[in-house]
Amino acid sequence: MKVPFLDLKPQHQAIRDEVLAALAATYDATRFCLGKDVEDFEKGFSAKFGYARTLGMNSGTSPLHIGSLCGGFGPGDEVITTPFTFASSCWGISYVGATPVFVDIDPDTWCISPEAIERAITPRTKGIVVVHIFGQPARMDEIMAIAARHRLFVVEDCAQAVGARYKGAPVGAIGDCGTFSFYPTKNLGACGEGGAFVSKHAAVMDKAQLLRVHGSPKRYLHTEVGFNFRMDGFQGAILAIKLKHIDAYTARRRAIAAQYRAGIKHPAVTLPVVPAYGESVWHQFTILHARRDALRAHLEQQGVGTDIIYPGPMHLQPCYASLGYAQGSLPVAERTSERCVSLPIFPELTDEQVAHVIAAVNSFAG
Ligand SMILES: *Cc1c(COP(=O)(O)O)cnc(C)c1O
Repeated sequence: MKVPFLDLKPQHQAIRDEVLAALAATYDATRFCLGKDVEDFEKGFSAKFGYARTLGMNSGTSPLHIGSLCGGFGPGDEVITTPFTFASSCWGISYVGATPVFVDIDPDTWCISPEAIERAITPRTKGIVVVHIFGQPARMDEIMAIAARHRLFVVEDCAQAVGARYKGAPVGAIGDCGTFSFYPTKNLGACGEGGAFVSKHAAVMDKAQLLRVHGSPKRYLHTEVGFNFRMDGFQGAILAIKLKHIDAYTARRRAIAAQYRAGIKHPAVTLPVVPAYGESVWHQFTILHARRDALRAHLEQQGVGTDIIYPGPMHLQPCYASLGYAQGSLPVAERTSERCVSLPIFPELTDEQVAHVIAAVNSFAG
C-alpha cells in the first residue's frame, strides 16, 4: 500500500466544479485584486474563528513583516523567537532591522519555552514572535504575563494553526496580532499564495490595512511608506469555498491524530504531547526517534512517505551565522531537529492508510 506524505489532489478534485464556477464569476467581474471575493472571505474567516476583523494578504510572510512594523521593532531592538520553525517566522524581525534572539523550545510541545523567554529578556527586548508549531498552541498565559511585565509586543505566527484554540480562545487574538499563511500545503490552503493578519487592537488593524496597500488611506494619498500585500481575488474566492469545509478537514485531521496516538506503540518512539490547555489542528503529526533516518528509510520501504520538518533549526542557519550561535546552544531544538520525522496527516487519508502507517512504524526494528 502507498501512503503519500501529502496529496493535494483529492481535496481539490472534490470541490473542483464549485471552485471553477466561482473563479469564472470572479473572472467575469474582473475582481482581480482584493474586492468582494476577498472581503467575503475575510468576513467568513472572522466569523468562523472569532476575530473582530481579518485582512487578507498575499502570503504568510507579509503579515509577519507587518506585525514587526506594528510592534515598532527596528534596528537595535531584540525580538525573542523560536528556532524550531519555518524560516519565515524570523523574516519579519530581520526585514525591519531588528535582531532575532533565539531561545529554546519546550521538550513536549516543541513551542517556544516561556522560561527561556524570561531568561533572554534584556533592556533592548521589544517583542516576541510565538509560533504555534504543527498546529499546537504555545503556552500563551505565561508568554503574555512576561510580555505585560516587560511591555513587549507579541506576534503569534498561526501559519500552521488555523482554527487552533488556547483555553477556548482563537490563536492570533491572544497576543497583539496574529498571522496566517494559506500556502497550498497549509490546513487552509489557497490555490496559489495567500495569508492573513488579525489583531485584537483596532488601531493595529487600521495600521496593517494601511500598510497592506501602499500606505494609502485614499487614492494617491500616502501617509506611510507602504507595501503591496494585497490578496488576489481568485484566492479569496477559493478560500471562501474551502472555509465551508475547514471544520470537516480539521475534524478528520484530529481523528487521524487520535488513531496514530492510540495505535503507535513503539518503545523508542516519542509521540507528540497534547496539553490540556489547547486544541491542536494537527498541521503535522511528528514523532521522535533517535535513529530517525533509519526509521524514515523503513517507512519508505513500506510505502509510507514522510518529511523532516525541520532538519535545521534557525539559529544554526547560514543566514544567521553572524549572530554567533554555537552548535549545542539550544539543545532541545537541536535534538528535536535531529530526531523528528513527520507522518502523513491530511484529511483525505483513508482509515486503511492510517492503519498501514501505524503498522509500518510499529514494525520498525530500531
Ligand atoms: C508557511 C509558514 C510561514 C510562511 O508562509 P508563506 O505563505 O509561505 O509566506 C510562516 N510561518 C510558518 C510557521 C509557516 O509554516
